[in-house]
Amino acid sequence: MAERIGIIYCERIQDGSRIGCAKCYKAVNDGTFAFEGMDEAHVVFKTSCGDCPGLVLPKVDVQMLVLDSLGEHVDAVYFGTCVQKATALMNCPMNLEGVSAKIEEKFDVPVRVGTHEY
Ligand code: SF4
Repeated sequence: MAERIGIIYCERIQDGSRIGCAKCYKAVNDGTFAFEGMDEAHVVFKTSCGDCPGLVLPKVDVQMLVLDSLGEHVDAVYFGTCVQKATALMNCPMNLEGVSAKIEEKFDVPVRVGTHEY
């Protein structure tokens, strides 16, 4: 069964037109958004981290309100591979582990990191 996912991307890595998001779309559309046990993914929201230092929670909060108003839900939230790279290579100031734990606690959804391998 398809998993309904939300994606959080790095505001600094993406440009104004979010050109780098094409990688996530490709992964989803090609079915290579592949993480263990996931057959298929449907993207129900995308949002940025809000720029440094990564005030993610209010942004996810708004997304959840919008989903609620549409009668939608999300099964899992993913930090994009861009956030993973920002953390590994760019001294990203966001506490990825701490923010992930907060999202899981507040919204009762699993949080994973990385959306594609390229
Ligand atoms: S907080 Fe991290 S993920 Fe967000 S814009 Fe800054 S470097 Fe990118």
